[in-house]
Amino acid sequence: MTTNELPETNFIRDIIDGDFESGKHSSVVTRFPPEPNGFLHIGHATSICLNFGLARDYPGRCHLRFDDTNPLKEESLFAESIIEDVRWLGFDWGDHLYHASGYFDQLYEWALQLIRDGKAYVDELSAEQIREYRGTLTEPGKNSPYRDRPVEENLDLIERMKNGEFDEGTYVVRAKIDMASPNPVMRDPTMYRIRKAEHHRTGAKWCIYPMYDYAHGLSDAIEGVTHSLCTLEFENNRPLYDWFIANLPTPATPRQIEFAGLNLGYTVLSKRVLRGLVEDGLVSGWDDPRMPTLRGLRRRGYTPASIRTFCRRIGLARRHAVSEISLLESGLREELNLSAPRAMAVLRPIKLVITNYPEGQKELLDAVNNPEDESAGVRQVPFSRELYIEDADFREEAPKKYFRLTPGREVRLRWAYFVTCTGAVKDPDTGEVIEVHCTYDPKTRGGDAPDGRKVKGTIHWVSAAHAIDAQVRLYDRLFCVERPGAGVDDVREHLNPDSIEVLRDCKLEPSLREARVGEPLQFERMGYFCVDSVDSSPQSLVFNRTVALRDAWAKIDKAAKAKGG
Ligand code: ATP
Ligand code: MG
Repeated sequence: MTTNELPETNFIRDIIDGDFESGKHSSVVTRFPPEPNGFLHIGHATSICLNFGLARDYPGRCHLRFDDTNPLKEESLFAESIIEDVRWLGFDWGDHLYHASGYFDQLYEWALQLIRDGKAYVDELSAEQIREYRGTLTEPGKNSPYRDRPVEENLDLIERMKNGEFDEGTYVVRAKIDMASPNPVMRDPTMYRIRKAEHHRTGAKWCIYPMYDYAHGLSDAIEGVTHSLCTLEFENNRPLYDWFIANLPTPATPRQIEFAGLNLGYTVLSKRVLRGLVEDGLVSGWDDPRMPTLRGLRRRGYTPASIRTFCRRIGLARRHAVSEISLLESGLREELNLSAPRAMAVLRPIKLVITNYPEGQKELLDAVNNPEDESAGVRQVPFSRELYIEDADFREEAPKKYFRLTPGREVRLRWAYFVTCTGAVKDPDTGEVIEVHCTYDPKTRGGDAPDGRKVKGTIHWVSAAHAIDAQVRLYDRLFCVERPGAGVDDVREHLNPDSIEVLRDCKLEPSLREARVGEPLQFERMGYFCVDSVDSSPQSLVFNRTVALRDAWAKIDKAAKAKGG
């Protein structure tokens, strides 16, 4: 995880530096607390990089804690995928894997203590009444008639709630704080509700489950967390976070600090929306290469390092902003440019016949694997009389500045020869070009003319007799507007109908038969690609385009802005 960029600085690091200087702390303890009810996405990655990054750069540690207080939604499948994804991103929690459900006994003891101290009570208002009594932002709330129930009665009721004597919705446990507080979060918040559901870790032991606000800060305190980092929507909950800790004999006093969660242009990070796309078949699954999930990004060919680089470069903000997807892509390109071996692949093939090259002859030509990395060496590519080239590399009538094949024009075939276009064969019925013809100059082997003459165009190619067949999938953004959902009723109205293009007749150089899942590749001129981890097999190869060589959207966005769009 080395980087030659400047050390990270942000307001949270400033706070921690201050705590070290003042002697308040001599190590930091952070945590990443996912709810195991879905797959991790790039927004979670920013939180992972933040929390684990602090533990890496300061003396200290970062815990992975499953926030599994809700028995209805959690599944162990999600927990396993989260573990795998955090590891894939490059982080490790050592022995510090925890579950909020592991604290249920302690949390219950503390609830009894709050009751004994006159700081909590069992309420039997209905959910609707509780809402009515809560008041509004401008009006104070009203005390529940059950608020001053005697301690003994409260203790009896909470025990019976726990034992399953009451139906869901009949009773709740509430903290007794202040129904007139200007902050509605402090108006006697609910600590426990009845849920007659089995929990995937605690089974049928509990019939009551703690609310997030009650469980979260206390879990932090139990683990000795020093800095509890969360997104901005919890700002109003901070006084409550502090209240529980101040009113209970916790072993530590963590501090909650809020930061602006990631908002990424052209992307949706809501689990609810993402789940809907999966359930309704609008994408192929949580790992669809267009999804912003870590699984999707990984299948698409993103590397863990490129995601960490992105998280570092966007930095940490106190207030909301939209980050640009192009920043994610440019970091990835920089990395893959250095690491990805090059190969030649023709995605939309058309035949090129070299009419003066002997029929039946084949030769092997040296091709450099990575011009950025000499140690990657050289491979041999077969060359013969009939090749495939991209159909876009031939124009019968060439526009200005078109430097590729057109009758009379000489170009370089990458790593091979100079060829001069002599014409094309057309389908007599449709007029469509089916074959391009050219002659080659045998003295230009390797792609250089001994007489020093230059050509303006270099195109890639694959020998027809030696080519392997593959399907290649090109992706575009899943949503076609920067802020999906803005101004429409349903975010799906903004789905990009052209987010995937499947090319079924691609022709690849033979070395690509050896391509392996997880190894990035550059197809010369076409972008960075990888073997699809799900659908590819030796009999039927499937490649994903990870990212194009250049940012096509930069131009589109610029044009839109120029038009005032
Ligand atoms: P839910 O709506 O189900 O709570 P969530 O995205 O908040 O969804 P969690 O599993 O609760 O999911 O999130 C785990 C951690 O990831 C939390 O600490 C949360 O603050 C952080 N996180 C979630 N989304 C983002 C985001 N877009 N940017 C930064 N951090 C995020
Ligand atoms: Mg959450």
